[in-house]
Amino acid sequence: MSKQPIQSGAGASTPALLGGEPAFDQPINVTRALAPEPSQLQERLASIHASRWYTNDGPLARELEQRLVEALGVGFCAAFCNGTSALQAALRHLDLSGEVITTPFTFPATVHAIEWNGLTPVFCDIDPESWNLDPARAAERVTSATSAIVPVHVFGNPCDVGALGALAEARELRLVYDAAHAFGARLEGRSLAGYGDLSVLSFHATKLFHTAEGGAVTGEDASHYRPLHLLRNFGIAGEDLVQGVGLNGKMSELHAALGLSLLEAAFEEITARARLAAVYDGLLGSVPGLRFQRFPETAEKNHAYYAIRVEAEAFGLSRDEVHHALRAENIVTRRYFFPLCSENESYRALPSARPEGLPEAHRLADEVLCLPLYGELGEAAVARCAKTLLGLREAAPQLRRALARHGDA
Ligand SMILES: *Cc1c(COP(=O)(O)O)cnc(C)c1O
Repeated sequence: MSKQPIQSGAGASTPALLGGEPAFDQPINVTRALAPEPSQLQERLASIHASRWYTNDGPLARELEQRLVEALGVGFCAAFCNGTSALQAALRHLDLSGEVITTPFTFPATVHAIEWNGLTPVFCDIDPESWNLDPARAAERVTSATSAIVPVHVFGNPCDVGALGALAEARELRLVYDAAHAFGARLEGRSLAGYGDLSVLSFHATKLFHTAEGGAVTGEDASHYRPLHLLRNFGIAGEDLVQGVGLNGKMSELHAALGLSLLEAAFEEITARARLAAVYDGLLGSVPGLRFQRFPETAEKNHAYYAIRVEAEAFGLSRDEVHHALRAENIVTRRYFFPLCSENESYRALPSARPEGLPEAHRLADEVLCLPLYGELGEAAVARCAKTLLGLREAAPQLRRALARHGDA
């Protein structure tokens, strides 16, 4: 690798791949899990040990459900051991059959939950601006076998809930939102956890609010709570009565204790991230070759992710080249969601998985990159991440050659 310093117009430092010092000494991750105030958690753990009530619908899981109902302003909240089992139970509860329309631009769990219910996922292209399921394309995918739509509020960006709700109603379909990214996000003042027949949240440690592992089914109609409770607890309806084919999807008291100790911090985290996102916006907002997800005007963001689209031609580097060059700077980015779920070997034989039918999703999956964003990162580090990215753009031709050499090696 050349150690020769390169001339860069705006005085940016030499990219690490070209022999410069890395932007950071230690890897900066794309996110960092929130940690509780130790004494708060200790107190709750002590109460668990004292009562010996570690799981099975305990007081802390109940309290967390109640606190989430209040914080999110929804009709009910059923806590689960993770978001995937919550999604499985939500789909099972709605007694679906046949085909379920969903997006390929999501985490594998969305599609797996459909498949695990014996349903056929039908992939539908996304809107290139919102990055969410395109309602017009979804309407074209509805057949007599379709029973539901499972859209995803990607990176906390509200789906076109009006159009999707109208489509579901017109074609008598169930609507289950994968709201795994949407904790604390709102549309027209209403929590995203309250849309559709049901919404599903994930409280995995990589998510904004977390319980290490956890999730929930939420919605407006509280009559869903009891059947979902049965589904997460083997279907046990009484001492000698089992109803239906339940899972073990319960949230333990230990996980609930962590969640209760992090709930307030999660809302503070949204505020902290909003400030940091503004720093990114200021530095990256009008750079040729970078594009951003479009949010509705009435959306209140949760800043769960800071995602950019790298348009190779205008930026001078492809998304993958940026990803690798930033890694050399100790800036760890994530290519969410690449490859698309429709490319997964379990799904790619489906007729709806053909790339010709999903051009926007494919383009996005090749261009998207999530940059580090979490409150503890601080404004200076965020500015450094952004400026490092700008420095890559200035040195794009030299970086391209250096990366090509790496590839050959
Ligand atoms: C994280 C995630 C899930 C799965 O949640 P787990 O709690 O990890 O099971 C589902 N869908 C999306 C879009 C996710 O990002």
